[in-house]
Amino acid sequence: MSVPQPIRGQCHCGNIAFELDWPDDSPEIPARACGCSFCVKHGGVWTSNPKARLAVTIGDRALVSPYAFGTRTATFHVCSRCGAVPIVTSEIDGRIYAVVNVNVLENVDPASLRRASMDFEGEDLESRLGRRKRNWIAAVRFGARAADPSCA
Ligand SMILES: [Zn+2]
Repeated sequence: MSVPQPIRGQCHCGNIAFELDWPDDSPEIPARACGCSFCVKHGGVWTSNPKARLAVTIGDRALVSPYAFGTRTATFHVCSRCGAVPIVTSEIDGRIYAVVNVNVLENVDPASLRRASMDFEGEDLESRLGRRKRNWIAAVRFGARAADPSCA
């Protein structure tokens, strides 16, 4: 099973889009169903790889609603136009780490997803941030989509 290069994903309306360069030596994409109260309500299933590189492109920044709760160390980037949640970020020691939602992937064969359930309830803050630093995507870029010259 091969992983497409790059992996592409976007929210339903396309306002929040990303490209994920997945490392060659990782033939499987983990898909972690998160047991936190937000992800249970949203059906959040996430993937990351510490060696992957993520480039996020936002169409209209005003239509991205950041949402945080609990320890407030993670920000869910909710598209306020279509309601999808393509990415979560966490700023740790001045660096942005991210996970992406496997439900918004556009070009991945579901058979290449290795599904698992995760429950991080009760984890203390230090272990939580340490786990994100080890497992989350550490190369994250945000950019605005270039205006389409044809619709001037
Ligand atoms: Zn959207």
